[in-house]
Amino acid sequence: MSDQAVSRELFDQVMVPNYAPGKVIPVRGQGARVWDQQDKEYIDFAGGIAVSALGHTHPALVQALTEQAGKLWHLSNVFTNEPALRLAKKLVDATFAERVFFANSGGEANEAAFKLARRYAWDHFGPDKHEIISFKDSFHGRTLFTVTVGGQAKYTEGFEPVPGGIHHAQYNDIESLRALISDKTCAVVLEPIQGEGGIHPADHGFLSEVRALCDQHKALLVFDEIQTGVGRTGSLYAYMNSGVVPDILTTAKALGGGFPIGAMLATEQVAKSLAVGTHGSTYGGNPLGCHVAEVLLDIVDTPEVLNGVREKSQRLKAGLQALNSQYGVFDDIRGEGLLIGCEVNETFKGKARLFLGAALEQGLMVLVAGPDVVRFAPSLIIPDEDIDEGLKRFGKSIEAVLAQ
Ligand SMILES: *Cc1c(COP(=O)(O)O)cnc(C)c1O
Repeated sequence: MSDQAVSRELFDQVMVPNYAPGKVIPVRGQGARVWDQQDKEYIDFAGGIAVSALGHTHPALVQALTEQAGKLWHLSNVFTNEPALRLAKKLVDATFAERVFFANSGGEANEAAFKLARRYAWDHFGPDKHEIISFKDSFHGRTLFTVTVGGQAKYTEGFEPVPGGIHHAQYNDIESLRALISDKTCAVVLEPIQGEGGIHPADHGFLSEVRALCDQHKALLVFDEIQTGVGRTGSLYAYMNSGVVPDILTTAKALGGGFPIGAMLATEQVAKSLAVGTHGSTYGGNPLGCHVAEVLLDIVDTPEVLNGVREKSQRLKAGLQALNSQYGVFDDIRGEGLLIGCEVNETFKGKARLFLGAALEQGLMVLVAGPDVVRFAPSLIIPDEDIDEGLKRFGKSIEAVLAQ
């Protein structure tokens, strides 16, 4: 089969139907632009769902990947390797954490975090302390444990029986957490900004009250920063904006800039509970992914890039607000840094996807976050010209939706 024969129709013939990909097939990318099979160009405001932190084919990442590809790909954790140790050292130096576990995805990083929380409680307090509390509308991954901790029933429906001992409180509502938390709680899990759930930031006051309740009940606080981490909000991790420090933090998505890698960060005291043999991964911490991630981290964790995220955030938000004063299709424009959500008004309720389809026609990639929110998660270093051009195309997309 030649490349020419590969069409979107083939997807429906050979793939499990769990995705509904767009009509076109992108074939190459550079910076914040992507081209499809017909060489049509798109501005990428989606960033591969907050993954492509340095855009597409960033020269430093291409160099890191090819350099490592010529050296050593894989050993398994029977041996350690230099890139993994260097990356772990950088993550420890840059955050509250003292220990790192590497995985290959966000879901796996969370799986490790939830298992560690259970094991830590089991070690120190016995088997009764196993309950996990998370929040409605949260998203933590697609493994059976992580969809169960996630607060969206549609993702567990039909997959029961699910793991037990998991409860869901109302986000940004401390009383609802107070009603559920007890000495049986081993961990409280939350996203500092709910991403998939519609770009809902946590109030900083709420986060400090959650921290206090966790301390009172000797429960660990787990921050899922898989979407908010690695510079997305203008700080290396979103917890740094709030001053509330977790015991465990998970990071993935942007960490590899498109190379699959995830990590769980923890304090030394907590990490001790994952003793030899308790958990593992064949590919976790492989030299290819770790070398890409260490180079990416060196670039992102600089005032230049992080301040740039804040400036670009203002530019993008201002542009979206200007479009909205013209067209009035959104009730709310929110988010931090380059994780921005536009909640559609009553007329378009449940139909945020219309804007995604219209944008694609206009040469623009955007995302949705649930049925009511159009989401933007572009490259952290997207050029200002591309923001402006993307906004222009988004304006045309809104016009097209209104004309339907
Ligand atoms: C994407 C995401 C995950 C899952 O990550 P995968 O790499 O898809 O397994 C978990 N938590 C949050 C907050 C996410 O945004």
